[in-house]
Amino acid sequence: MKNRFCSLSFLVALALGLTAGVAPALAAPRVIEITANDQMKFSVANIDAKAGEELKVVFKNVGTLPKEAMGHNWVLLKAGVDVTAFATAAMMAKDTDYIPAAKKGDVLASTPTLGPKKEAEVVFKAPAAGTYNFICSFPGHYALMKGTLTVK
Ligand code: ZN
Repeated sequence: MKNRFCSLSFLVALALGLTAGVAPALAAPRVIEITANDQMKFSVANIDAKAGEELKVVFKNVGTLPKEAMGHNWVLLKAGVDVTAFATAAMMAKDTDYIPAAKKGDVLASTPTLGPKKEAEVVFKAPAAGTYNFICSFPGHYALMKGTLTVK
């Protein structure tokens, strides 16, 4: 009896998960917490992952300066994307939250640009094996605010 109840609960949970368009709780993504501060630093410089692994980046701006002066985002770029070219175009892309419309296809995952004490999250699947750059594309930040996702 107990077993039947358990498997039934699982099926219900699975059905609910599918209905909601999200994976069931058993396949919850691995959470990676990254903070950004007024010193233009990410708390994480490298993320290791397995290809296809589901990841959830929880991104927090722990600074106190206003968004207009010290906003931060987290942008993961596809392999082979020219980071300098992307960041240069992003400087002019305030209206699209520093993701240049013409280079949207260069982005694997990104968060909105956050002001102080704000938090955002993004869920994505780790791409194929390789090294991927992530940056903050707020004007002038990418030289200091960068890191890599290493997928094996
Ligand atoms: Zn930044």
